[in-house]
Amino acid sequence: MMRCMETRVIEVDLLDDCRAVYKEAAAVLAEGGLVALPTETVYGLGADAFNTEAVAQVFAVKERPAFDPLICHLAHAKGLKDIANVPAELQALVDKLAHEFWPGPMTLVLPRRECVPDIVTSGLPTVACRVPSHEVMRGVVRALGHPIAAPSANRFGHISPTSAGAVMKELGGRIPMVLDAGACAEGLESTILAPCIDEKGNPAVRLLREGPITREKLRGICRVIRPGKNKAVDAAAAPTAPGQLKSHYAPAKKLVLHNPREPFEPEEGVTYGLITYQGDSPLASQDCWAEVMPLSPGSGRLAEAAVRLFAVMRAMDEHEEVQVIVAEELPETGLGCAMMDRLRRAAANRDE
Ligand code: AMP
Ligand code: MG
Repeated sequence: MMRCMETRVIEVDLLDDCRAVYKEAAAVLAEGGLVALPTETVYGLGADAFNTEAVAQVFAVKERPAFDPLICHLAHAKGLKDIANVPAELQALVDKLAHEFWPGPMTLVLPRRECVPDIVTSGLPTVACRVPSHEVMRGVVRALGHPIAAPSANRFGHISPTSAGAVMKELGGRIPMVLDAGACAEGLESTILAPCIDEKGNPAVRLLREGPITREKLRGICRVIRPGKNKAVDAAAAPTAPGQLKSHYAPAKKLVLHNPREPFEPEEGVTYGLITYQGDSPLASQDCWAEVMPLSPGSGRLAEAAVRLFAVMRAMDEHEEVQVIVAEELPETGLGCAMMDRLRRAAANRDE
């Protein structure tokens, strides 16, 4: 049984001077405690990355298996050299990516330095590094003076939280502090890239997890190798992202994906809720839904849908009448790729 404690929720208004709050959160972390805090992607469950016991608590509180490594959050790209050894042949590429996308929702997997504890990297020779753009996460990292290791602040396999309220539902009573700075601007976990040398000897990146830095955004910056597309490079480079399990980001209820242009045949006696992209598809106009929730009502913007995806999945999961969630397949361009990745995992059979 998880120890029950009082969870303090501290509201953070970025228009105020927040230094006192950052210090308070850093003090909890410095003592080995955990703090849930916002980033531009989702809320993270933070621990001092150099404190092995605190990091062990992250795994315990989340019920996360030890083979699933954590991302280290830095306040500035200059801090990268403190936790990663960037190979000389990849330095120019890493600098370019950092310049383009940091601070922001991009995680780079690089050879780790000795000082990064095994528990953070699940024993891998690499460490996942990110400079988030959210002021609160960077402010607390600065106040702590160490990187913060933080996975999403949900119980393992559940939907990632994009608000402090969602964090409380997942981890309330298990952690001492949550910093509440409102909803996350991106709403999807970071894009994970592993810089590598491709089969022709040129720098490239392997795309380990789709996210807000889309393939389109990476085009023109570097070659992107998708997993499974080039076995030789896959084998030669770092191991593929562990933790990218088939079933993940999952609501408690069954979720199925459906083509929005094809009719849905409901089963007798089952009540369904529909997650629709815009709300105007032939699927959405069927009369079999107990609830219809659009991701981007009317306008159909992928960025808006991404911000709302996890909150809508959560609302469907909590809906009293809905037994099975049907989600429309989304267009697989730009952010649609990352959203479909999450929806496929949410739909995957947990036993597989
Ligand atoms: P999250 O659960 O959003 O914190 O994401 C952490 C994910 O980052 C893990 O599940 C892995 O897929 C990935 N990751 C972290 N560290 C590494 C690493 N050293 N090598 C490859 N992937 C990693
Ligand atoms: Mg997660």
